Amino acid sequence: MTDPILSIEDLHVRFDTYAGTVHAVNGMTFEMQPGEMFGLVGESGCGKSVTGLAALRAVPSPGRIENGRIIFSGEDVMQKSEEEMQAIRGGRIAMIFQDPTASLNPVFTAGNQITRQIQQHSNASKKAAKERALEMFDEVGLPNPEGIYRAYPHELSGGMQQRVMIAMALASGAELLIADEPTTALDVTIQAQILALLSELRQNEGLSILLITHDLGVVAETCDRVAVAYAGRIVETGTVDDVLYQTKHPYTQGLMSALPDMVEHGHPLQVIKGNVPDGLRPVTGCPFHPRCYAVMDICREQQPLPIQMESQKHSVACHLYEEAK
Ligand code: SF4
Repeated sequence: MTDPILSIEDLHVRFDTYAGTVHAVNGMTFEMQPGEMFGLVGESGCGKSVTGLAALRAVPSPGRIENGRIIFSGEDVMQKSEEEMQAIRGGRIAMIFQDPTASLNPVFTAGNQITRQIQQHSNASKKAAKERALEMFDEVGLPNPEGIYRAYPHELSGGMQQRVMIAMALASGAELLIADEPTTALDVTIQAQILALLSELRQNEGLSILLITHDLGVVAETCDRVAVAYAGRIVETGTVDDVLYQTKHPYTQGLMSALPDMVEHGHPLQVIKGNVPDGLRPVTGCPFHPRCYAVMDICREQQPLPIQMESQKHSVACHLYEEAK
């Protein structure tokens, strides 16, 4: 196995608020291989977006990375200077978000924004940057690249804006794209087109993609491997086949049984009872225990550690499987 392109080890992120310290990420650990499409999945508030921002050392104030290691392409992100991080952000690592309008500047044309980005991360002339921008617009399937180049963000549909964001990531030579709910704000047909584009870029360009999503259906269609996050840590990880079709963790089982597809296949729709834990009041033991159908005494006291399943790539943090071993 090659060295991971991104490795997150025991990451803890806190937000110091007037109400107290919010424990947003609590020991998140996973790694992704180069050229992989890796899904980080969970309900909102599970720490997945904050983890994506932490990979870029871009957690907004009052957030702070309390501890943990973030290794990108063999380099320790936590040891980089702010100047080095600025070169990495939008350069070797790019991030796209659910709402591309918030990422694009409304007063500059798409062409102006992409050429500036290219010039920031290379010494290309304005002419060469424009040529590269048009090439990238074409590569991400934007019709009439010259027209898009001259257009302001409000003149483009949501799907086109997201393609512009992806073109910007490619144009600056990103090796890793962190895509945070990139299709959630788009209608279903456009969603499928953007996901197909990401899969193509992964295959043709060798781009590594960390896909952050709440949608297991999206993961099933596009990812190689997946990590399921709950209360700021990973509870189950493995190949998509292992995690979605040999599901072990009670939380992942709950997410799966709430999928509309499962209902179509004759399974009753089940909702996970209770609410996601409040980051201000961390739960002792397994953070899922107040909602778990299989809770045992040990679950209220001890936090479970990841256990390797029969398939070496599949691991689950749940006391049920310690008992079985
Ligand atoms: Fe449920 Fe216990 Fe497993 Fe947590 S450790 S998921 S409470 S069985």
